[in-house]
Amino acid sequence: MNVILLGAPGAGKGTQAVKLAEKYKIPHISTGDIFRANIKGQTPIGIVAKSYIDKGQLVPDEVTVQIVKDRLEDDDCKVGYLLDGFPRTVAQAEALEKVSKVDAVVNIDVPLEKLLRRITGRRVCSKCGISYHIDFIGDVKKCSECDGELIQRADDNEDTVKQRLDVYVKQTAPLIEFYKSRGVLINVDGDKSVDEVFESISEKLG
Ligand code: AMP
Repeated sequence: MNVILLGAPGAGKGTQAVKLAEKYKIPHISTGDIFRANIKGQTPIGIVAKSYIDKGQLVPDEVTVQIVKDRLEDDDCKVGYLLDGFPRTVAQAEALEKVSKVDAVVNIDVPLEKLLRRITGRRVCSKCGISYHIDFIGDVKKCSECDGELIQRADDNEDTVKQRLDVYVKQTAPLIEFYKSRGVLINVDGDKSVDEVFESISEKLG
């Protein structure tokens, strides 16, 4: 099964992707994670990506599309894939269409006004990447799964988040219509608990 998770920053794509990849036994491919790994490793791609990510802008399509194309050629993608954070532009979606058939696009819908708080309160495990929110964990500083240190992503500060939300509205939201017109769009109310959203996606994906 080839699945895309669509949604604004902070809609819960990453959290749902981990659970869905486990359930459907397909690889979870997050372009954001790939960029962060490259930034950590100070690779040429990482250096380019950082200059955009720090400003809340999208990494150019040529760079992003090539990374995904290469990743989809890996053996583990023969059974399918779960794309998280890609495509983010119509040009990326068109490039993907040329190399792979998408079975379902899950759009996790959360009201825009709720996203700023969701993201600025987000803390992620520096070791395993799981996301938490300060509203639920208070001032806990360690991951309950792996004891890793909880940190705030550099691009989760208020100014950058506002820019990312703006980019989402202008460049990524048009993909909802794009995939609707192809008959593969599944809409899910993302303004619910993690488990409720997961149940609702699982039900619709079958
Ligand atoms: P994410 O972890 O999905 O929120 O991505 C973090 C940042 O990585 C985004 O704000 C973008 O700057 C960059 N990024 C991730 N995926 C893409 C993509 N498909 N196209 C362009 N930039 C991306």
